Amino acid sequence: MFENRAEARIDLSRLTENIELLKNKCNTKLLAVVKADAYGHGLVEVAKAAESAGADWLGVALLEEAITLRKNGLKSPILAWLVPPGSDFQSAVDLDIDVAIADIKAFNEVSQLTVKPRIHIEVDTGMSRGGFLDEWNEFLTSDFSRVTIVGVFSHFARADEPQEKQNIQQLNQFKKMVSQLEAVGVHPQFKHLSNSAATFMNPDATFDFVRAGIAMYGLSPDVKSLGDSNKLSLKPVMQVRAKLHLVKSVPAGSAVGYGASHVTKHATKLGVIAMGYADGIPRIALNAGVFVNGGKAPIIGRVSMDQFVVDLGPNSLAKSGDWVIIFGDGSRGEYTADDWGDASSSINYEIVTRIGPRVPRIYAPHVY
Ligand SMILES: *Cc1c(COP(=O)(O)O)cnc(C)c1O
Repeated sequence: MFENRAEARIDLSRLTENIELLKNKCNTKLLAVVKADAYGHGLVEVAKAAESAGADWLGVALLEEAITLRKNGLKSPILAWLVPPGSDFQSAVDLDIDVAIADIKAFNEVSQLTVKPRIHIEVDTGMSRGGFLDEWNEFLTSDFSRVTIVGVFSHFARADEPQEKQNIQQLNQFKKMVSQLEAVGVHPQFKHLSNSAATFMNPDATFDFVRAGIAMYGLSPDVKSLGDSNKLSLKPVMQVRAKLHLVKSVPAGSAVGYGASHVTKHATKLGVIAMGYADGIPRIALNAGVFVNGGKAPIIGRVSMDQFVVDLGPNSLAKSGDWVIIFGDGSRGEYTADDWGDASSSINYEIVTRIGPRVPRIYAPHVY
């Protein structure tokens, strides 16, 4: 039996626990956000686990993602929210997929279908990204008889900074736009606004369901303002580990990697890890590394496409072929996705999402 050179271990029982926690927290329905290959965790596997764990809806960005879910037998209501004019709306209707409508052009297209499409009206309440804004008044005069309006929704820009007044402004604007819709006789069954951060911080924004992404994967929406996974009682679902491809002793003064950006100060042992930026290890990562034999070994030199080098220390007992942990839940002292986010001027969302397709996802408990 051969082993992988690197793998992302996805513990779906942790996903289930996170969903249960979130459902208790919001006390309403939950839409499980599985866009971007379920934040790198595997679209279909995560969607199935989320459905079994009691998620009421599935949410994706792209229509293609929603189509994949239906083709793999997912039965829950599915909403796709990044569906521009010219999209395959006929497949959405055929496969019973709800689509977000954010402009008049797309609305006119879906109004032409012979079967009524199920739509959610997206409104821009202050993020200046998706949703109706300048076309809103004109849109309110539309003929809505050729569509089924299932929902109305918006998205917070700063839910992870609960003290920011933009949150209350967006909430009020949302309520205002919903009442304008109701004033023209449109009464969507589902109003939804909250992402993970708002699910924790803003109970007034819960409405008919919350759309939870990052927290379902056991990660904090913002470590600085909300605390880490532990503080929020979330269980990180993904652990990434890789093999030491080589271990070698080098003298002081050895230049390591492209550009010789690091030169060893002392004689030491180097570990070459069989993962690189093509696998999602950020090239700019500084002050991250791996967990090996119960301790941390920092990255030295530049991350290359398929590999990077860590300083194991002169007394390391590590051997080629040993497993090291790139990130996990931190419980043994290993680096976390939060640490890698910090180390690369980014966020945990990007770290898990960018783990590349060359890294097999293994649906099994984490190992140490
Ligand atoms: C990605 C996304 C979410 C989930 O956000 P999290 O912060 O991961 O919970 C919710 N709603 C929309 C519209 C999104 O694009």
